[in-house]
Amino acid sequence: MKRICIIGGGQLAWMMGDAAESLGLKLIIQTPHPTDPAVPIASETIFASIDDAIATTQLAACCDVITFENEFINLEALMPLAQQGVCFRPPLDALAPLLDKYHQRSYFQSIGLPQPDFRILEGEISQQPLNIPAFDEHSITLNELVFPLVIKARRHGYDGQGTFIIKDKNSFDETWKKLGKIPVLLEEFIPFERELAVIAARSVTGEVVVYPVVETQQENQVCRRVFAPARISATVVREIEAIARTLLNSLQAVGVFGIELFLTSNGKILVNEVSPRTHNSGHFSLDACETSQFEMHLRAVAGLPLGSPALQCESAVMVNLLGYEYSQNDYQEKRQKLATIPNSFIHWYGKTESRPGRKLGHVTVLLDSKEETQAQAIAQQIESLWYSC
Ligand code: ADP
Repeated sequence: MKRICIIGGGQLAWMMGDAAESLGLKLIIQTPHPTDPAVPIASETIFASIDDAIATTQLAACCDVITFENEFINLEALMPLAQQGVCFRPPLDALAPLLDKYHQRSYFQSIGLPQPDFRILEGEISQQPLNIPAFDEHSITLNELVFPLVIKARRHGYDGQGTFIIKDKNSFDETWKKLGKIPVLLEEFIPFERELAVIAARSVTGEVVVYPVVETQQENQVCRRVFAPARISATVVREIEAIARTLLNSLQAVGVFGIELFLTSNGKILVNEVSPRTHNSGHFSLDACETSQFEMHLRAVAGLPLGSPALQCESAVMVNLLGYEYSQNDYQEKRQKLATIPNSFIHWYGKTESRPGRKLGHVTVLLDSKEETQAQAIAQQIESLWYSC
């Protein structure tokens, strides 16, 4: 039996539980939080911070493979373990270009992926080694800024927390000051027509599978709903599949990766970002696909053949259940109402506290047609049930 260690114990690790059982894999979790969703499904948990490399060293002794649930990875601390032969999947070399948003953009450029124009703004107070040469072709100074633009914290941003859309110099000054004038990535603002995403997986032997491309809808930079498949042309689908293959192959990746993209009004595809892990835009696969992204990830990292990513229904819609208040309510009543929607599957992460914007669960509804208006109406129905007082 393979023992898989996951660094991180949130819902993404929790959703691997069922697949681990059916594949006969044991999951061992490293997390500092005893109330994390994945703790109850783990056969063992090491309670330590996710960047605690000493704890990871102990884990390495009792598992076959170490994988990750998020991108807050302490690469430098883990490198010596990899050199001693500890098996990380994805390999640390595949993660290295992706953990900092500026490094990601530079990597996409080096392999020729289409993306928004980007610049790096150095901090006024240099907080940490920047890893960029003193003169960088992407450096920009404060008096060269063109608006609108997007400010992104280079690391540790998630659910839009480190991402700010900026219309003018005043709001730029205000936001950058709030960030502590740290070095940031600046991007051209893309007035996209739709946001798309795709999950792809690569096996140890280099086999790549790509899930159906989906449309994601964000509000305040947080994903609210996902429509699978995206209602886009076959040409756009092929282009995105090619991007996914190029990326995973050039990284020599192993495991599931989530790729977010913009589709512009003139049909251009631009890569927004890549997450080296399972992703919210792939949650529909739990109920709608032959192999869920969680099973696919476990298959890849355990060295098993990959499964089929095909949809088992005409289409599906996934809606995130986001916290909208500070509370310890487990929202039983609302969940029961959601369960009355035909072909709905509710996934409740069992978090003990709700706060605004926190991902508490999600609902997927399987549909027997590809009609866009039907999927939108169901998303609206779910949201009005969930967000009603
Ligand atoms: P995070 O890593 O926190 O998820 P993202 O970089 O994915 O942050 O950005 C979150 C959202 O912000 C995107 O889904 C998109 O709606 C918006 N966004 C990000 N970058 C741009 C951009 N260059 N132009 C327009 N909107 C953007």
